[in-house]
Amino acid sequence: MVYWCLACNVPLIEARCGICGCEAVEVRLFRPEDPRPALETDTKILRETVEKRFGQQAFKRVIGDGVILLNRVPYADAGYEVVGDGLLLGHLFYDMRLLEWRFKPLRMGCMRLLEDGLMESVKIDQKPVKGQTLRLKKIDRGYVALRDDSGAVLGVAEQMDDGLKVLNVWKPISEVEPVRGGASIGDFLRANENAIRAEASRAAKTIYKVHGRFGGELVVSYSGGKDSLAVLSLTLEAGLEPKLLFTDTGIELPETVSNVQRVSSKFGVEALEAQAGEAFWRGLDSYGPPARGYRWCCKTCKLIPTLRLYKSRLSGRVLTVIGQRAAESRARRKRGSVWENYWITGSMNMTPIGGWSMLHVWLYLWMKKLEDLVNPLYFEGFDRIGCYTCPYCNLAEFQEVKRLHPELWSRWEDWLRRWASNMGYGEDYVKLALWRWRRTPKRVERVVGVKAEDYRRMSLKVYVEDAQVDGVKASIRLRLNKHIDIERVLKLAPTIGGVNVVSKGVLEHRDGETQVTIRWDGSITVENLTYPGFKLLYKVLGTIARAVLCTGCLSCVFWCVKDAVSWDGETVYVDQKSCAGCGVCLEKCPIAVYFIKESLPSIIGALNDALNKSRKS
Ligand code: SF4
Ligand code: SF4
Repeated sequence: MVYWCLACNVPLIEARCGICGCEAVEVRLFRPEDPRPALETDTKILRETVEKRFGQQAFKRVIGDGVILLNRVPYADAGYEVVGDGLLLGHLFYDMRLLEWRFKPLRMGCMRLLEDGLMESVKIDQKPVKGQTLRLKKIDRGYVALRDDSGAVLGVAEQMDDGLKVLNVWKPISEVEPVRGGASIGDFLRANENAIRAEASRAAKTIYKVHGRFGGELVVSYSGGKDSLAVLSLTLEAGLEPKLLFTDTGIELPETVSNVQRVSSKFGVEALEAQAGEAFWRGLDSYGPPARGYRWCCKTCKLIPTLRLYKSRLSGRVLTVIGQRAAESRARRKRGSVWENYWITGSMNMTPIGGWSMLHVWLYLWMKKLEDLVNPLYFEGFDRIGCYTCPYCNLAEFQEVKRLHPELWSRWEDWLRRWASNMGYGEDYVKLALWRWRRTPKRVERVVGVKAEDYRRMSLKVYVEDAQVDGVKASIRLRLNKHIDIERVLKLAPTIGGVNVVSKGVLEHRDGETQVTIRWDGSITVENLTYPGFKLLYKVLGTIARAVLCTGCLSCVFWCVKDAVSWDGETVYVDQKSCAGCGVCLEKCPIAVYFIKESLPSIIGALNDALNKSRKS
């Protein structure tokens, strides 16, 4: 919940103002209500955008020079509610068609523009409905306010070729609230100082208490972002001596890497750094580009290097303090403030700032005078800090990466162009970063008018040549689009209980009645497949994927409790004598897991068709 003191004109994290003591008003924002103060670059973008469309005086007239809040709202790309003077003034969003920021005035934004004659309006005699098109031509392009007979403003529409498209409607308003402005970030901090001090003290006490109860080594997971800087400072405030853990995914921006060094030396905290090196670039040709819901890179570039570091540099139980906030995602909302570390047996994670909004974090950092240690990317317009190839970035952020680090961006863009041309995708696939989704979402498709769908991104693909069902048994003939390196399959064979060499380039694996034949030319035949035999099919497909596509991520080496897996610099090798055949290395191999996921729908589909056919005959 966000409040606003109308007397001092500042946003508050509590209902009472710390300057004048007045009761503040509530400001309703789009949920989960995680606003942040607009920083210098944000304000510059907002000013230029408003003035470009509505004229030189428009920013002063509509937004003013007070504290501005930005709160994320869903758009095809980046989108924010703009709040000033405690009022929703409009939306700032990145237009994927025009590749530029735009400002859409709402309610008081429209009223203020209209009062100064900076916006067009049209009188309509019916109640507007969101999404409808009114066959009216008012201007060439841009926003038009909708008014009723009394002159009250009811909504806003965008002028399109075929008429005015109604974008937002609201209860009629006719009173204009003048721009108050005036308050600075210093006033904002003064008004909230006691509240944020109390929040910080509670958070530090929580860390102290949880650590006291749990014991073990104390680590702060540091990403180079503001939230992790805040939890590091809180942990030190609690009088504890944590180690700082940072995983360099190899696709971090240089500002982030140097921020880690600056922060650890400033606080005198030992930094443990996990390095993924070239793992992302090595994985690309096997996995294809990452996408939302297909973030193989989180496993190969973040999770696995981090786990390896835990194993090599930390011992016993570890308590990891993480700067995660409930407002960031549904998964984080569901999780409590202390939870078991899923990956490291007997270890725990905690977040002391689960209930904080971005306002809390910024207030805390300002209160502690830590601005100099904040990652400079925030002051360049970045909303969040992460890998520069992340499919969760928005186009506006990609433009910033391109501007700040053209050499990094061109490596990524060159790879994407090659991929797009091999896949037969058009120019928009790279330009509009459509690779971020395996299926272009409707809201993006509506804006850009282009759709891409590629669920099967891995370079290894399986095709069903034939499927037959006879009673409770099935047989299936599969073909891969690549040859199979039989030597590599032999090196992994102990994990599936061994294989027999039938002849040069041909292997056979049996389990009960089910028999699988694997040929070097990419053909795989499965006979007498029963329902329980499906597990065998997964294992065989996973093992072949490991043999053909292994990227050397070393997840299997990490997870094998028998130390049976080794890496010879080119491939993995499983020692038959030590291997217990538990299959854990296969389950933890991202290549095997994603390949099985991609392949199963076509295999199951073919078997279902064969089953239906056999029932009919
Ligand atoms: S995890 Fe180790 S023991 Fe288990 S199947 Fe793999 S290599 Fe064998
Ligand atoms: S086989 Fe091992 S090293 Fe290779 S991709 Fe799979 S988990 Fe990584």
